[in-house]
Amino acid sequence: MSGCIFCRIVAGDAPATKIHEDDTLLAFLDIRPITRGHTLIIPKGHATDLDELSPALGARLFGFGHRLSKAMRRSDLGIHGANLLINDGKAAFQTVHHVHLHVVPRTNGDMFTLAKGFLLRRPHDQEATAAALRSGLDRLAAEEKETNA
Ligand code: 5GP
Ligand code: ZN
Repeated sequence: MSGCIFCRIVAGDAPATKIHEDDTLLAFLDIRPITRGHTLIIPKGHATDLDELSPALGARLFGFGHRLSKAMRRSDLGIHGANLLINDGKAAFQTVHHVHLHVVPRTNGDMFTLAKGFLLRRPHDQEATAAALRSGLDRLAAEEKETNA
């Protein structure tokens, strides 16, 4: 959809630090992260909110959020958990009107860092962060391969 920043990212017309891409989804770092590794997962096709998203795509969106959350724990970023969140609609403070799942990494006892992150929303070393998350995904895939072998 023209004028939608996330559609422009999908089209390659706006920059993003990508974590994962497949036929239906794109995952990239939030430009104003709450914590290091804060990722947004979007359907590639424009859907404004959950009302416009098919249940099948919703399941894929959460499915990759689940996978990324596991990958984060396997990365070298010292992540112990994550908050997965969708702000669905203006009433819920959605500010970018292309549906997206936030995956916000958490570490044990990070309340102070989290509070600071909420206030400052400053990017960290985005390229190194993305590389660490991608290697977490690779480790997860290798683990699964071993389990199924
Ligand atoms: P919402 O409040 O709609 O759930 O969150 C929108 C998120 O998108 C915010 O966390 C914001 O920092 C992020 N965001 C807004 N514009 C851009 C952009 O151009 N690139 C990236 N990577 N993130 C963006
Ligand atoms: Zn869009």
